[in-house]
Amino acid sequence: MTPHPQQAALAHSLRDPESFWSGHAERLHWHQNPSRALTRQTKTLPSGVQHEHWSWFPDGEISTTYNCVDRHVHNGRGDQVAIIWESPVTQTTEKYTYKKLLDEVEVLAGVLREEGVRKGDVVIIYMPMIPAALIAALAITRLGAIHAAVFGGFAAQSLAQRIEAARPRVIMTASCGIEGAKGPISYRPLVEGAVAASTYKPSKVIVWQRDQLRWNNPDKLGGQRNWQRLVKSARMRGVRASPVPVKSTDGLYIIYTSGTTGLPKGVLREAGGHAVGLELSIRSLFNIKGPGDVMFCASDIGWVVGHSYILYAPLLVGATTVLFEGKPIGTPDAGTFWRIVEKHNVNTLFTAPTAMRAIRKEDNNNHLFKEVGERNGLKSLRALFLAGERSEPSIVRAYQDLLSQYAAPGAVVVDNWWSSESGSPITGLALNSHAAIASQLPAETNKPLPTRPGSAGLPMPGFDVRIVDDEGAEVPAGTMGNIVMAPPLAPTAFTSLFQDEERFYRGYLKRFNGKWVDTGDAGLIDEDGYVHIMSRSDDIINVAAHRFSTGTIEQAILTHPTISEASVVGIPDAIKGHLPFAFIHLHNQTEPLPAKAPKKLFEEVNELVRTQIGAIASLGGIIQGRGMIPKTRSGKTLRRVLRELVENGVVGKFDEGVSVPPTVEDGEVVEVARQRVREYFGVKGVKAKL
Ligand code: AMP
Repeated sequence: MTPHPQQAALAHSLRDPESFWSGHAERLHWHQNPSRALTRQTKTLPSGVQHEHWSWFPDGEISTTYNCVDRHVHNGRGDQVAIIWESPVTQTTEKYTYKKLLDEVEVLAGVLREEGVRKGDVVIIYMPMIPAALIAALAITRLGAIHAAVFGGFAAQSLAQRIEAARPRVIMTASCGIEGAKGPISYRPLVEGAVAASTYKPSKVIVWQRDQLRWNNPDKLGGQRNWQRLVKSARMRGVRASPVPVKSTDGLYIIYTSGTTGLPKGVLREAGGHAVGLELSIRSLFNIKGPGDVMFCASDIGWVVGHSYILYAPLLVGATTVLFEGKPIGTPDAGTFWRIVEKHNVNTLFTAPTAMRAIRKEDNNNHLFKEVGERNGLKSLRALFLAGERSEPSIVRAYQDLLSQYAAPGAVVVDNWWSSESGSPITGLALNSHAAIASQLPAETNKPLPTRPGSAGLPMPGFDVRIVDDEGAEVPAGTMGNIVMAPPLAPTAFTSLFQDEERFYRGYLKRFNGKWVDTGDAGLIDEDGYVHIMSRSDDIINVAAHRFSTGTIEQAILTHPTISEASVVGIPDAIKGHLPFAFIHLHNQTEPLPAKAPKKLFEEVNELVRTQIGAIASLGGIIQGRGMIPKTRSGKTLRRVLRELVENGVVGKFDEGVSVPPTVEDGEVVEVARQRVREYFGVKGVKAKL
């Protein structure tokens, strides 16, 4: 059978990375053309450990900003819209053409140069979702400096940790962020608190003043500067900076991983591989090919998804990107995404499954979706991409049905799996995969592989994904195991951590003696090559010596018609070691319910688990409630926190501290969960919340 173009592209990229990637590199402007796509060498660490290291386009020189902005203006596309800012929280819509963007970036880069930023310096961006944040990133990159964007919702302590690690010359920030409908939150105490707490002090703090809440009387002696004033002065004096190319292997940015486990790690993205890999991924996987195409990635610039698909990838191909300052629900309602799709003719929408769950819960009969759909407002939409955590089949199916009825013909829901480390999706279903191979194929072959709900698709070019057991031996198709990748990784992926090669080795290579790169995820590859991501490796539950992923059990539970969300953790059991234990949320729950699920519901759910997985995975209990499943700010379920609460609850230690990471979205949720656990395990007299 002829392989599908996505599979052919993958095979080509793994068999002959040199020819595959050289072809794609030619689509970009290089200040110095690379003579090779890939070199591989052995690296010796100070500890004496040796491991494989690889470099993409090692002798090339490139400016990512030039490729994202200047190039399009020089090619006569200056009037094309580059950025659309949609801010329901400030009731603003703004558009930036490529010409205007170039003008802003050139001037701001000039300002930064005057403020002492040089090639190779680090600049922290701690900003809300406003155009200035994107302009800042492009201006930093223009100087050959390295940005480290820190999610604007992080507390002072998390910011301090990143200042300490990244040692930025400058921090670029704003006077306030606007969190959903909560109104403006002053950034000043957060930034000043973080700088005070860090032993390293940046020399400047440049503040974008927002009208909603100003940063009054900046502390000049402390290096605080008014952003708009600096820009105005530079503009008057004609100060502008031209692009400074960097080596392909030089750092473009640092991103700290979201930290559901352990201390954040500084993933270093390299300039050349990033540009080439992203340019291919947005054309091929996301089907955003250039002028006229509109991408709406409803992530945050603090996350890798935001870096890649709000900022760099759409601009690399000269398309239009939508920058959204708001929430999926509550700004003002669960119909916001759909109205933005309609207003700006969005072709590809990218968000996290947690956003879709929130929308679905709020917009119960898809009323708001259909309202836009029925006036043909969604006809431009070709795809809904979901990533960040597992998408359960029920959510994929629900939106696939809706897209099939209301969106563009052939529109699909695409679960895609990736990480801060990979920089672009490792797996997915390429919408336009013929672009991924050099040959022109007839239009009918340019259809994505069929969706398989529950799977995150097939590997993308350059990612050699395998499933191995704990000894690193590959397991047969369909068997659960550790998901690893054979080095080298695709060009967008990291080759090291920022100034911490030892930790890179310890964190990713050591476990399998350098043979595989450990992704930390567990899952399987089925007979047809579809990859199924079931959980983080440490979310595997060992029941009577059988290993189950929390994701598989959650999937079974979610087939119950009344349950909208489930989170499974292991509860200690004297006989079996552990039993799966579920936290569930019911559709349409408005009344307070007892923490312990009624016997009938428990039996029904258990039956689903027993029939879909096996009697061995029978549940140890179910807690029902609302607002008790803690998430990180990027939408990942913090099962570890629930697990600790349950482990403490079993032994009656309800008030024991649990390790809540600073990335938690809402700490109050942990307290609700604690209360539910207390109630479940039989302490009387505690009034349950919902
Ligand atoms: P981060 O580095 O913060 O982007 O987190 C990466 C992690 O998110 C991955 O290692 C997975 O555990 C999880 N993840 C991302 N996308 C998916 C997906 N489509 N399905 C399942 N898990 C995902």
